[in-house]
Amino acid sequence: MKKKIILILLSLISFLIVFFVIIISCLMIFEYFDEAITDDYVENNGKYATRYLQAVNKHIKKGDGYVSLSRIIYFYNANDKLTFDEIYEDNLDKELKQVKRISDVCLMDKYKTLYVCDSEYIVKSNQIDIIQSKPFVPPLKVSNMNVTSYFKHQRIVYGKSSIHQGWDFSSSARTPVYSSCDGVVNSTSFTFMFNNPGSSGGGGNQIKIKCDSVGDETYTITYMHLYPNSSIVKKGDRVVQNKQIAEVGTTGYSTGNHLHFQVSNSKNKVVDGLSLINFN
Ligand SMILES: [Zn+2]
Repeated sequence: MKKKIILILLSLISFLIVFFVIIISCLMIFEYFDEAITDDYVENNGKYATRYLQAVNKHIKKGDGYVSLSRIIYFYNANDKLTFDEIYEDNLDKELKQVKRISDVCLMDKYKTLYVCDSEYIVKSNQIDIIQSKPFVPPLKVSNMNVTSYFKHQRIVYGKSSIHQGWDFSSSARTPVYSSCDGVVNSTSFTFMFNNPGSSGGGGNQIKIKCDSVGDETYTITYMHLYPNSSIVKKGDRVVQNKQIAEVGTTGYSTGNHLHFQVSNSKNKVVDGLSLINFN
């Protein structure tokens, strides 16, 4: 009897092991684990929005550099006495104007003893602990980059809950929008003739630019809610970084004048556009 139970248990365990190996292999085949550029985001992040937006705005508008919410939460989870602003600042490399490696942040006395600074923990975490290349320039003058919604922000717009696919920068109507990359205009759509916000109409007037490849990655950037008739480029045009392409508006699904800045990779997956911008 005992033998039988053990046998059943053993076969059950082997079945489970085989099952999980198959599932994980399938996920790997479909590149489920191949998360691009700081794509990891914090679940139920709406509750952090006010504090994070405050921290990110304090620094982005001065051109100090970008630190993602997931990086802030990484340290905040280990010590909730730390303020978002403090963690943001501690994670910035002031010279490179970009996020530091976790291992470098962990050299500071106040972080050193936290469990998240354990080298094994860092390796196992989904944080990217390398200095990433920053191929893009800001799409607006940094002083105009007033962030109202961040990448993967869980928020409610017109009563509907959604996860934001890009970055929103509120700015006055007709503020110049610049190309963040060198590339070719993939498409332009300027069907909205009036600069009115609406609860439908998607991205409104928009321009899509296919950037020149960086390494083996080719990004596409979409600029949305643009001002009517403000496009300076047309499909097929070659653009360079910092070239003005259009103006900020509030066309389509929008609540006020702002630029929606959305970046996707060659697999057509949205990635964190701000993590690719060089503030130096
Ligand atoms: Zn948006």
